[in-house]
Amino acid sequence: MSDLWIYADDDSGFHAFEQASEVLGFAYSRVCPEGAPPINIELSVDSDVDPEICTGFCTPESVNEGVPLNYDIDLAPDLDSDTLTQTLIHETVHIAQYLRGDLYQGHGPEGGKFRITWKGEDHTNTEYHLRPWESEAKLLESQIYEEYKELN
Ligand SMILES: [Zn+2]
Repeated sequence: MSDLWIYADDDSGFHAFEQASEVLGFAYSRVCPEGAPPINIELSVDSDVDPEICTGFCTPESVNEGVPLNYDIDLAPDLDSDTLTQTLIHETVHIAQYLRGDLYQGHGPEGGKFRITWKGEDHTNTEYHLRPWESEAKLLESQIYEEYKELN
């Protein structure tokens, strides 16, 4: 398994570092693509994230050259422990999708318009519930969550 480095700044508002490290490590061991490079994940709580809409999101750092190596995971405030676990598993699936090169979001090597692509197809304007990477993330999230609960 490749290296996974996890950070949370003192002013990030995130205080469940131990749980997050455990969950991210577990989830990453399930979905990490073969031969993936070491990656960094920075955790923070963002009061603009509305848990009614989504409990977290994952942003890759600029991907101008190959797969992104740095990821920010922003979480809604005051998530209960189970929801935090599920959210972190979900976002880890997205990281694996970026590392596989299946999911891309950014401005492309030459700059230009912001785009989201999935397996080479443009999905910039695809609605949330129709995004194929979200279906995969939801499916794997529940599978990995069940596995995690059995061990913990
Ligand atoms: Zn998602």
